[in-house]
Amino acid sequence: MTKLLIASNNKAKIEEFREIFKGYRYNVVSMDDIGLTINVEEDQPDFAGNSFKKAKEVSAKTGEIVLADDSGLEVEALNGQPGVFSSRFAGEKANDTDNNNKLLSLMMNVPDKKRRARFRCVITIFWPDGTYLQTEGTCPGKIAFKPVGEGGFGYDPLFLPTGLNKSMAELTADEKNKISHRAIATKAMVELLSKKKVEEI
Ligand code: IMP
Repeated sequence: MTKLLIASNNKAKIEEFREIFKGYRYNVVSMDDIGLTINVEEDQPDFAGNSFKKAKEVSAKTGEIVLADDSGLEVEALNGQPGVFSSRFAGEKANDTDNNNKLLSLMMNVPDKKRRARFRCVITIFWPDGTYLQTEGTCPGKIAFKPVGEGGFGYDPLFLPTGLNKSMAELTADEKNKISHRAIATKAMVELLSKKKVEEI
């Protein structure tokens, strides 16, 4: 099994990656698992830049093969906000509830047909020899008028995935892992990895 270090401190995300990588020949390890604390400033203008920066810096510091994602919510009526600021939409110390409340208040007067949004995720795997792979996944939907459901994290209670009569927070972990932006980006990554020669991994 190839060790894959996940450059994230978000427990919910790490669990999603563990589930998605089950069945593949990767041993997913979190920074917490190996007692590491590395904070990389997410100061790039887009998901791809932040994901690349996190994977590269953590790989340089640890010598491990590192997977990093950067993800967030883009709301059409808000010109793509919160985007790369998703985790700190309501301020540097904001939690999920603060962010959801800010989103709801900004969307208060937006009618149903203008509430389109999507989750986006860019994943980078960076190897200690300087090579890397990058993939992207999106999950389309719209913003609800009130939070529903207890599962997931972040904006899940306010996100209604296209084609489902439920919020993302009402899905089981398995259901979310079939449609999420992170799952789609991860599956694309697994496909790219399977094309890489075994001895390179
Ligand atoms: P990151 O950890 O810098 O990638 O920030 C991701 C932020 O985007 C999270 O803190 C959430 O606010 C939001 N986000 C990303 N993925 C999801 C998801 O699957 N559900 C709900 N919110 C998400």
